[in-house]
Amino acid sequence: MTVKLDINPIKAWLPNIDNPLLIAGPCSLESEEQALETARLLAQDKRVFVFRGGVWKPRTRPGSFEGVGSIGLKWLQKVKEETGLPVGTEVANAQHTEEALKAGLDVVWIGARSTASPFVVQEIADVVKGSNAVVMVKNPVNPDVQLWMGALERISQAGIKNIVAIHRGFTPFRETKYRNYPNWKTFIELKRNMPNLPIICDPSHIAGTREYLLEISQKAFDMGMDGLMVESHRDPSCAMSDASQQLTPADLGKMLDKLVIRNENA
Ligand code: PEP
Ligand code: MN
Repeated sequence: MTVKLDINPIKAWLPNIDNPLLIAGPCSLESEEQALETARLLAQDKRVFVFRGGVWKPRTRPGSFEGVGSIGLKWLQKVKEETGLPVGTEVANAQHTEEALKAGLDVVWIGARSTASPFVVQEIADVVKGSNAVVMVKNPVNPDVQLWMGALERISQAGIKNIVAIHRGFTPFRETKYRNYPNWKTFIELKRNMPNLPIICDPSHIAGTREYLLEISQKAFDMGMDGLMVESHRDPSCAMSDASQQLTPADLGKMLDKLVIRNENA
């Protein structure tokens, strides 16, 4: 069933945009210096419009780095002050969301593990409503378009108009060279059902390794997606999470140079 969400186009909340929506930044913020240095390098590339940095990291299994927590919000504030880029992080409950909005973040996104929980999505929607924050909703880990749409509807029904969907691939059920398999049919179905919803691609979590980022990003634009969220770290070799899929800001620039971008929606 087609649902016309009451939604603002990207240009309404990002007036300076003249390109596809490109979001970049580290998987995890690790220190103030790492956040600022990565952001400075990314801001030199005028194609990057939003800086991302994870502070609460939803690790599949315990025992690995789970993010720096609330202190990272201060580093995002500094990134914004210094570079002028809007900043965003992943939130997974009402408390994260309250803290992120209080810190003046422009964007919060719901991660793939949280999109699968209607209660979590609802509590985040209830905190964001009434603010101007942008809410981005990643697909759930399982290829269930209804669940993804349900999350987007919950955000929309709270009166939030700055909404973006992110395709980050699905947990593979058969062998694939990718970490999470992209399902372009799912994208087409979402687009058909919610025609005015901006949808971007997260090639980093689909790929799992740097070598596949270009082909996935190109495919996303060929399919008519509205932008990319790409993980970028000043020195991926020592990243505390997702080291093998992150690009230096310079390598991100080289990848963008190679992409043939056809996009009329930004
Ligand atoms: C991330 O963006 O770093 C992340 C954890 O993503 P996902 O929810 O897609 O796994
Ligand atoms: Mn990551």
